[in-house]
Amino acid sequence: MNNAVVYFEPLSNKSTIDKTVVAIDNIFNRIDTSFSKKDMIAIKTHFGEEKNDTHIAPKIINKIVDKLIELNVNPFLTETSTLYAGARDNAIKHLKLAYRHGFTPQNIKAPIIMADGLLGDLEIEVKIDGILNKSVKIARDAVLSDGFVVLSHPTGHIVAGFGACLKNLGMGLSSKKGKLVQHSSIKPKIISRNCINCGMCKKWCPADAIIEKDNKMFILEDKCIGCGECLAVCKYSAVKFNWGVGSVELQKNIAEYALGAIKNKRDKCIFINVLTNMTKECDCMDKKQKPTIPDVGILASNDPVAIDQATLDLTEEANGIDLGKKSYPKLDPNIQLDHAQKIGLGVRQYKLERLK
Ligand code: SF4
Ligand code: SF4
Repeated sequence: MNNAVVYFEPLSNKSTIDKTVVAIDNIFNRIDTSFSKKDMIAIKTHFGEEKNDTHIAPKIINKIVDKLIELNVNPFLTETSTLYAGARDNAIKHLKLAYRHGFTPQNIKAPIIMADGLLGDLEIEVKIDGILNKSVKIARDAVLSDGFVVLSHPTGHIVAGFGACLKNLGMGLSSKKGKLVQHSSIKPKIISRNCINCGMCKKWCPADAIIEKDNKMFILEDKCIGCGECLAVCKYSAVKFNWGVGSVELQKNIAEYALGAIKNKRDKCIFINVLTNMTKECDCMDKKQKPTIPDVGILASNDPVAIDQATLDLTEEANGIDLGKKSYPKLDPNIQLDHAQKIGLGVRQYKLERLK
């Protein structure tokens, strides 16, 4: 199996946004871009949940837009609606939030197009040769785009242990129905003997799946969308997941959905991971977070598996422990990488090219 190349531009901890923009510029000059003139290129990113302020900054994303304009292609930013109710669960709310976070026409020289339409149901069933899925439900305008720049912010993840490029592709480019399929095996339960009935899980559950009966909390399985929010907010270890099944299946599904998301444009994809402001929880969590490990730098590759492998390796090299293990020691993010390699999405072995 051939090695992939991953380019690495190191950054010192807490570098300024301007230094990060320069690093993006350098790394973009090295990566192989095989776009054709006038191609419609989707920049897949994440605008951050309402209170999140550690997502990738607009100025950094605009640098990618500039680089694509220099290549004479037509870039646009793209995202999809969340499965759970919140500030990003339809296109209008999501775009308003993007504006509040600075992704405005004044700051970004490219339009934002929600790939799954107004309500998150615009999808194309893409056939894949997966192990769990023979087809996946991908946001329509992601499929219709000619190529991708997938700009990801690696973080820990409450169910997968770690999320970066593969998660941005697989979860981030699926329709709502596709997201539901990926979460379907995660069914949390409330352990009554640990529960003090504080009500936090009920308050935060985005699917109204938690009810109180006879002073006890219960999760309604048919309403639960497996988002993990109840686990994150319970301070009394009263919410339990079946991690064995939930995390493994979610990670494998993410890898298979990622395969479907880039199926018709595998040769026209650039993957960039921004290893700064890396937090324990992902940018979907509606709270401010402090970085859990120091900044590392910027990675770029044409291989989505190699870039996530390099993210784990370089965070371990810099900190003695990788981002996944540091965030969720009991979860194993190698599952998504192994599975992605097994289904032919990319390779875990890579050659690292340090740019300075
Ligand atoms: S947050 Fe935890 S302790 Fe509070 S009601 Fe929910 S399960 Fe019980
Ligand atoms: S995982 Fe928890 S918070 Fe999320 S939908 Fe299910 S019960 Fe609600």
